[in-house]
Amino acid sequence: MIHVKKAFVIGHPIKHSRSPLIHRHWLDRYGIAGSYEPIEVAPDELAGFLDRIRAGEFVGGNVTVPHKEEAWRLVDFRDLDTDHLKAFNTLSQLPAADGIAIYGQNTDLYGFLANLDQQAPGWDAGVENAIVLGAGGAARAVAAALALRVSGRVRVLNRTAARAEALAEDLPGGIEGYGLDRFATLAPDSQLLVNTTTIGMHGTRFDDLPLDRLPKTALVTDIVYVPLLTPLLADARHLGLRTVDGLGMLLHQAVPGFEAWFGTRPEVTPELRRIIEATL
Ligand code: NAP
Repeated sequence: MIHVKKAFVIGHPIKHSRSPLIHRHWLDRYGIAGSYEPIEVAPDELAGFLDRIRAGEFVGGNVTVPHKEEAWRLVDFRDLDTDHLKAFNTLSQLPAADGIAIYGQNTDLYGFLANLDQQAPGWDAGVENAIVLGAGGAARAVAAALALRVSGRVRVLNRTAARAEALAEDLPGGIEGYGLDRFATLAPDSQLLVNTTTIGMHGTRFDDLPLDRLPKTALVTDIVYVPLLTPLLADARHLGLRTVDGLGMLLHQAVPGFEAWFGTRPEVTPELRRIIEATL
């Protein structure tokens, strides 16, 4: 009998997740006997659900809104490189002396950098300072990722300035927090702009963001990927700035989980991108 390895994505709600399409594409492509199922889990059911990994039912899975912070608290072992993000999106089995333990990690940090590395190779050579718009969950991963790769400052600008300041204080490595109103003064010596706010979803745009203050060689990227061409990216292109969209981050963040569960490191290919793009 073939042993089918079972993985999941849990959230509340979960039915709009594109992760099953990504992982099932890879299972097919690499001929692996495995499954990846979306499962609706309410907040009060999370701890009980995680016990099903310890019992051996699942090899692991992904965790999405609203469970990422609680998953970070509940795992048995934490990935040291992403522990400081205090939110995990990827869980896997870890053999332990007394049975199976749960290992947690945050792969958004990896996914964000891998997308830029694939779509704009060498991007970091030209970036001294970066601006990150937003100070929510995704901003933590993006700011921490940039702190590893840019030589100067990571400037986090948020509608609620206090939240950006708190994020900067909580994370290591040259991160500063400001209100969004500082954009015009900080833009001229920032060579990378990243949007991590929810603005852009459903075609929404920033009221007053003078992109023309950025250097002409700046790179602009958005982690919002519905629509793929957000108004921010469209405005940046209109000014002749280089842009990278956010779909690749979603695809790349899935790589470490698939490898941990199924033992094959999958590739983010143009074919996979086309499959997911068709659903946007
Ligand atoms: P979140 O924790 O809810 O944070 C939302 C952020 O947006 C906050 O900084 C918030 O500012 C800001 N914001 C919301 N409405 C605003 C407005 N009208 N004007 C100015 N700022 C506003 O959300 P998240 O989990 O970080 O996710 C953010 C976005 O990233 C979502 O669209 C999500 O789908 C996307 N995302 C994409 C990927 C990917 O793989 N590409 C991965 C993760 C997330 P305040 O603090 O002032 O409220």
